[in-house]
Amino acid sequence: MTIEEIKTLMESWGEKAFRAPQIFDWLHGKKVKSIGEMSNLPLALREKLEQETALATLTLHTRQISRDGTRKYLFLLPDHQAVESVLMQYDYGNTLCISSQVGCRMGCHFCASTIGGLVRNLLPGEMLEQIYRVEEEAGLNINHIVVMGTGEPLDNLENLIRFIRLLSDPKGKKLSQRNITVSTCGLVPEIYQLAEEKLGITLALSLHAPEDALRQTMMPIAKRYTIAETLAACDAYFQATGRRMSYEYSLVRGVNDMPQQAQALAQLLIDRNAHVNLIPVNPVAERAYETSREESVARFQKILEKNGINATIRKKMGADIDGACGQLRRRLME
Ligand code: SAH
Repeated sequence: MTIEEIKTLMESWGEKAFRAPQIFDWLHGKKVKSIGEMSNLPLALREKLEQETALATLTLHTRQISRDGTRKYLFLLPDHQAVESVLMQYDYGNTLCISSQVGCRMGCHFCASTIGGLVRNLLPGEMLEQIYRVEEEAGLNINHIVVMGTGEPLDNLENLIRFIRLLSDPKGKKLSQRNITVSTCGLVPEIYQLAEEKLGITLALSLHAPEDALRQTMMPIAKRYTIAETLAACDAYFQATGRRMSYEYSLVRGVNDMPQQAQALAQLLIDRNAHVNLIPVNPVAERAYETSREESVARFQKILEKNGINATIRKKMGADIDGACGQLRRRLME
């Protein structure tokens, strides 16, 4: 709840409005794990909060630390479901990759998160808690958030928007929206809806192929929306927000990593103010995709750059702990 919403709730209970910023501060400033800890609230109000509301906290189940400092967390939710979050430490700061759903229904063929389908959406508080609990556990400040963990964030749009607003709230963690990236497989109507919210976040589109036929063999969503329709929505997002789009391209050996595909991708993006993130695909045990050779990745990047398209290769981190998306949770389910 926003402070305004808590205020309305307090007033409906006959409580003073100033309780709202107090409660908000307990949740998002002091980050308590129970209502009982909200010591400046009268006991009767704490009891009423216990009865009428739910403070869903996450509990740490597993933590893995990689040699490069990457930390992977598996959290249990109150209903015994599990979500993963990954902390990456860079020179310029700490980035947390969070999950937006338990499971996913998008069915991308190279992704482990979608194998068991969608279980449920995460609530805004469950997305925030991943950040709060990792900060507490690792004893550091997180300054970048990427919504690139399990789930399709635009398939949980209302909760996602609420999460972003709470995360950047001046009375909460105050994270600048510029430091938040949301990745989507390309839900076109939702990209337009998100554009209307005029948030300052970066949107990343998982493109992965320069033509529809190939994209359809990798991602079921490509059967619903063409690349042309999807890029038109991304253009609208850029126009509405002024935020440069980011395009993700996971490189699969012999599938989408050939020079002619790099050329075709360059043609698609040449007149767009775009940044391309090349991700050598992480092999997933259940999937037959192989990662691109290092030479193919470098050649792909070179072709894009020759065409004036800014492209970076995603640095592989945490390779010695479960690399690919959704693998920790998969193991828990077995
Ligand atoms: N559902 C959203 C966000 C989660 S996935 C989306 O599709 O964008 C985050 C990114 O990781 C996406 O670009 C996705 O396609 C990619 N991805 C998933 N599994 C992968 C794997 N095994 N190797 C490399 N990238 C992968």
